[in-house]
Parts: sequence; C-alpha cells; structure tokens
Amino acid sequence: MQPLDESLLSSNAPAKVCQDSAPNAPMSECPNCHATFVSRRGKKFCRDGCRYQYTQNLRSASCRVGTFLGGLYQEQLRSPGESLISSLPEFLDSLPTGRTDRQEKISQELIELNMSLMRRGLVDPAVRRYYKTRAAMIAFSLRYEEHPIDRELFIHAREILRDTGIEAPITAHKVYDLLGHADAAIRFYLMHRDNLSLARALLVRGNIERTFWDESTASPRFTWAHDLLSEDCYRHAPNDRTVAMYFHRSISYRLRCRGRYLSVGERGGELAQLLLLARMVDDPMLWVEHHRDYTGHVNQLLGDRSAASESLRDLTDARNKYPNRPLDYDPTILRSRIEFLFDSGRESDKEEAIALIRGKYVALYSQNRTFYYRRQILDWSAAHRFQMSVPLPKAEYFNSYFIPRYVDTPVTGAVPAK
Ligand SMILES: [Zn+2]
Repeated sequence: MQPLDESLLSSNAPAKVCQDSAPNAPMSECPNCHATFVSRRGKKFCRDGCRYQYTQNLRSASCRVGTFLGGLYQEQLRSPGESLISSLPEFLDSLPTGRTDRQEKISQELIELNMSLMRRGLVDPAVRRYYKTRAAMIAFSLRYEEHPIDRELFIHAREILRDTGIEAPITAHKVYDLLGHADAAIRFYLMHRDNLSLARALLVRGNIERTFWDESTASPRFTWAHDLLSEDCYRHAPNDRTVAMYFHRSISYRLRCRGRYLSVGERGGELAQLLLLARMVDDPMLWVEHHRDYTGHVNQLLGDRSAASESLRDLTDARNKYPNRPLDYDPTILRSRIEFLFDSGRESDKEEAIALIRGKYVALYSQNRTFYYRRQILDWSAAHRFQMSVPLPKAEYFNSYFIPRYVDTPVTGAVPAK
C-alpha cells in the first residue's frame, strides 16, 4: 500500500473547493473569498456574488462621490483680480501659437510648479505668490478651451490653486473658492474614471474640511479615497509608488477619523499595512510622516506607549536626515511628541507639553503662520486649560498642501502620477 502523500496535506493544497471541480481543469483562487475553484474561460471569481462583493466599496464610493457633487458650491473659476488680468496679455504672448506646442509648454510648467511645491513648500510668501500667479494665469487662459488636453491642464492648474491655499484674512468667500477648485477636480476625475487622481483630490478636500469644519465632516472623503485606492488602483498596480503613497495617506487619515470605531484586530491590520506601504514607497519624506502618524496611532488606538515612544525615536532619526531644511509640517512633528506627553496622564508630562507649546511650537508657528497651526495651539490651550504667555500673532495663510502629486526621491527623480 502506498504511504499517504504528505504534500496533499501541505498548505499549498486547496483548502476548500468553492464550486464544482473536475480533474485536470485549471484551478484558480478566488480573489474575494480565497476559495479554490475550477476556472473556466478565464473566470476570475468563483461566483457572481464574489465578483460583486470584490468591488462593492469601489462602486459605492464612486456613486457617493457623484451624489455628493450634486448639491455643491459653484465650481466656476472666478476672475483672478485686476493685477493678474493686466499681466495676462503678456503671459498669452509668451505662449507658442500652435496648440500642441502651447499645451506642451503649459504641461511642462505645471509639472515644474508641482516639483517645486514639493521641494520648497509654501513657507515663503513670495514663493506662494509666484505659484498662485502662474497657476491662475494658466487656468484663466484655458477657461474656455474645449480640447480634452486643455481641460486636463485647466484642472491641473486649479489643483495648484487649491494646494497653495488662501492668504489672510481668511474669509468664507475664499474658503468657498478653494472648495470650488477642489470640487472641479473631483468632478473631472470622476467623469474620466481616473481613480488615482480622484483619490488624491478627495484626500485634499478632506484636509480642507478637517481644518475648517471637523474630522467627522471630512471622514467620508478619506473613506472614499481609501476604497478607490484599495479596490482599484492598489489592486491593479501594487508596485506603483505613487499609488502606495496615496494609499498610505488614505489609511492614515482614515485611522485618525475612524480608527476608534474599528476592532483592535482591525486597527492592528491597518497599522501593519501602513508600515508595508511606507517600506514600499521608501521615500525619506514619507518616512517622516509615517513615523509621526504611527506614533499617534499606536498610542491612541492601541494604547501601546512603548511602541509609540520607539516610533518617536524613529521620527527624530527620519527628521534629522534634513538638518538644514525647514519643513512646512515641522509643527506636526512636534505635535506628536506633545500629544504623547499629554496622553500619559502625569502632571509633570503635562507641564513639559505646555512648555513645548509655549516655546518650540509657538516659535515654529511664528516662522510658518498657517491657520491650522494657530488653531491647534488654541485647541490645546482650551482642552488642557492653560493660558498662552504671549498673544499669538494672526495666521498669514491657510495651506492645504499635504499630499505631493508625485513621489520624489533623489535617486529616481519624480514619477508623474499619470
Ligand atoms: Zn469566491
């Protein structure tokens, strides 16, 4: 009698068979339920129900984005003001006359503006003005063009206007203009079924909402972006670094807004995925953001103070790779330490946190006076009942630029998203 073949019992053997099986037929694993089944005519799923379930969140997200846009602010581009209109003729003269050459030139400038935004940030007011002026002139010059490439460039320019934010005094009017740019991009990418760009547009809109309203208002935008990325972009291009970067950001924002509603097991799973994606992108800037967010997540969602403290050390190391360069989001790096101290519940830690806010955080804020960082100081002061020793100077601008369009590393250069 032949001995029992051990290999049949190994983990490679089909665990269960979802539907009928026939000898010698090609076996496949259903990507939804992971059952092994006989794949006839290249069928990907074991049954229709699985095909439906597999992209359920994706379809639901696209549908909800469409409904959401139904009742929104007007997205028309408003006139950019007199000073700009007067320099518009000069700008138009500088463009080549042939359509293709003109599109080529504008496209090149938009890529350069994005690269520059990513490397220089928005701290310098003159730099901000430059980005806004160039993007506004491009958008304004293209506003009536119908050619598909012109429409795309028009939206691209409006995204730069959205990302560069608004200057003080911050009024409701200006915030609605910003949302107008954001929603025009969402509508465009939804219409063109460009889920990667749509996801980024949703993440940035969520960021604007998070600042001017609150996290629960912004939360659906992060969830939709997450579902588009996980059920479409990431599945189809798991090795694309730009996809992985957006996916990383979407998980992190979602954990921040909705993490407390997940089970402990789910939280752990999401955090493991976050780490996997950060390793995959392996971009020095993303590492800084990763350790910053990871510190907050393990501390607040898992209550793991020792993992949080280790992550804070990784954060310091990642940040120290750029000793001479101020980053737009330096205050958020300090924020993770401050929140870690507040969360300990010890009086001495609370005092240390308050000293950090009054000292370093306010100093960073005076170098980069964004609406968001000022509000953060006021929120802490209200939540932990302490006074600021000096009156806070007013904010200079609001910055919605948290997610670069491309992944950028010194080795490979920029990888455009499309
Ligand atoms: Zn199945």
